[in-house]
This record gives sequence, structure tokens and C-alpha cells, in this order.
Amino acid sequence: MTDLTFGLIGTGFMGKAHAIALKAAPTVFSLPALPVCELLAEVDDEYAACKARELGFDRSTGDWKSLVTDPHVDVVDICAPNFLHKEMALAAIAAGKHVYTEKPLALCAADAQMMVEAAEAAGVKTLVGFNYIRNSATQLAREIIASGELGELIHFRGRHNEDYLADPAKPLDWHSRRGTAGAGALGDVGSHILNMAEYLTGQRIQEVVGQLQTVIPTRPLADGSGGLGEVENDDQAQALLRFDGGLIGNVETSRVATGRKMGLAYTVTGTKGSIVFDQERMSELQLYKCEGPEGRQGFRTLLMGPEHPDYAAFSPAPGHGLGYNDQKIIEIRDLIEGIVSGRPLYPDFREAWRVNRMIDAIEASHAQGRWVPV
Ligand code: NAD
Repeated sequence: MTDLTFGLIGTGFMGKAHAIALKAAPTVFSLPALPVCELLAEVDDEYAACKARELGFDRSTGDWKSLVTDPHVDVVDICAPNFLHKEMALAAIAAGKHVYTEKPLALCAADAQMMVEAAEAAGVKTLVGFNYIRNSATQLAREIIASGELGELIHFRGRHNEDYLADPAKPLDWHSRRGTAGAGALGDVGSHILNMAEYLTGQRIQEVVGQLQTVIPTRPLADGSGGLGEVENDDQAQALLRFDGGLIGNVETSRVATGRKMGLAYTVTGTKGSIVFDQERMSELQLYKCEGPEGRQGFRTLLMGPEHPDYAAFSPAPGHGLGYNDQKIIEIRDLIEGIVSGRPLYPDFREAWRVNRMIDAIEASHAQGRWVPV
């Protein structure tokens, strides 16, 4: 058993989730290499040292540039805000490191393309944190769809709605600025459901027509001055989709959807049945099949258990439930297996570049008032 050493950049919401997953992955799964929490970078030395102690990393630095070139780091794990992904990833790739980064890959498709080309030229492995596709129920949904149990797919309906910016009194942060986030709800949570649409259906989104809206145009500045700053990207967005296999569909996404905490949901409809899923009930999949007498047909609830994808590694008991962080543990397992085996990783930078292209196409469609190819 070899070691795979990780250098983590950023310790907010996602940095902590990655640290939890790195620590837990060898307990849950039998891995071909042991993840080692080697080095952690934050905005300054003192904060980095404090977070390294909390999250269980051996060393720390206030300078991410020294992390990406550190000879004892094999994988650079980027959990910093969106605008830093490109610079950090390019520096890591130049130093020959594998790169695991949070979504969206980049602020725009042109930046994402540059990152794809650099990673592929260097021959390093890449993985992007579209973690919801690792949930047991969603892996099962994909298996059911791929096996043909739903017949021919005829419609995809997806949404990822949350309300983390529904309160107009919430101060302006990096999420609402073009230069630090790129797109708003569309790039942040919308990127998950766009990736999910292709992951589930096995079809590529070819063309989109989109609509975006900023619902809360200004927010209090975070400096407490009492001033207001402009919200520079969308609070909500929606798009109609045309897929290359003939499927049609739509997505909607919001960060101001009052009451929606984790509203990633989808309905996939086929000629012989359909599947309905809601991440707020992440252990349940609703399955309808056109079979049996008409008066006895209806949606069944499949409650996740050890016979479903990756569940048994966590628990032998059905219906006990996986959580958000367990998806990240599965993601770490896939990352380590991909790096050690040399097999392709999904979704890698090339795949995540597609998501950036979809986001750009939806924005262009809104600006131009027409269908736009991805
Ligand atoms: P956050 O604001 O909670 O954390 C960002 C961290 O990065 C902070 O600790 C900050 O101090 C640190 N940081 C900022 N600049 C830095 C620098 N120059 N050097 C080192 N550290 C620096 O943000 P978050 O919610 O954790 O989001 C981080 C990324 O994760 C974003 O790209 C976001 O889109 C993504 N994200 C993904 C999911 C998911 O489910 N996959 C969920 C939330 C966020």
C-alpha cells in the first residue's frame, strides 16, 4: 500500500468537507493508496496553522504557491472561491501535480479550456467536485436508465434551487461578484444539475435557450459601512434543453428560492417508466414502471440499502441513510482509484469544461434571445 499525499487549499465549507472525506475514506473503503493529509494552505500563516490543527493536516502555509510546488504533495485539492481555481490549477499542473478541484471548474469556458489543455498536455489526473452524482440513489437512477428499464427517454426535468441568498440583508460576498464567481446561481448550484442531466441520461446537451434574473440587485457591503454593493450575476435562471439523442428537457436554478435548502431534484421520463428524485430526501428514489394491472400501477419508493451502489461500505443496515459528506467520501475513493490505476476519472476537467460551456451558452442565449449551441 502506497501513500498519496494531499495539499488542501481553502478550509471553508468545502475544505472541511474534503478534509472529513480524506480522513474517513480509508475507514469506509479498501483503497489502493492511503490518502495522507500532508499540507494545508489558507490566507495567512496563522489561520493556516490553526485550520491544520483542527482538520488534522501535518503542515500548513499561508502561501498556496508554496503548496502547489511542494515536493511532498502528490494531489493539489482546490477548495478556494471560483476565481482562484484557474491560477491555482495551472500552477499545480505546471508542477506536475494531480488536481482535484471544486466546481465550477472556471469562471468561463475559455478559462476552463486552458485548464483542460494544460492538464492533458502534462498528463496529470483531474477531478471536479460534482459530488451529487455519487449519491447511492442517483447512481442507482443512472443504472436503471442505462439498463433500458424506463424504455426510450423522452424528457428530463432538473432543478437545483436553494435559498442561501434569499435574505436581502445578507452581505455581498464572492458569490455575487462577476470577477470572483462568474455566473451566479447558474454557475454555483446550476452547474450541478447541468452535469447531472448528462450523467443520468447519457446524452449530450446540444442546444439551450435560457433566461436569467437578478432578483436582489444590491446587498449591504461586508465591511459594515452601511453602503450597498451591486449584485453582478443571476439569482435565478432557467433553460430549455435539446439533447443529441433526441431528448428534450429543462433546468431551473436559484439561490433565492425561499424555503428550498437542498433542492436538487430531477424527473427522467421514458416510454416505459419514470424516475423522480429530490436531494432533500436523498435516500429515496421514486420509480414508476408501466407494468401490472392499471388499477395497481403507481410510483414505488426505493429506500437505499446495502444492495444499492456504494451503500454497503457505509452500513449493513438498509434505510439508515447516507449524508452529504458520504458523497465526498465516495468521490475521494474514485479519485484515488483513478490516480493509482490510471483509468479515466469522471467528471474530469474536460467534462467540467462542458458544464462551463453550457453556462456560457445559457447566458449568451439570454443576451441574444435565441437558441444557442453548447
Ligand atoms: P468558503 O468561502 O466557505 O471557503 C473558501 C475558503 O478559501 C476560505 O476558507 C478562504 O479563507 C479560503 N481562501 C480564499 N482565498 C485563498 C487564498 N488565496 N489562499 C488560500 N485560501 C484561500 O467557500 P466554499 O463554499 O467552501 O466554496 C469553495 C469552492 O467550493 C467554490 O468553488 C464553490 O463553488 C465550491 N462549492 C462546492 C460545493 C459542492 O457541493 N461541491 C458546495 C459549496 C461550494
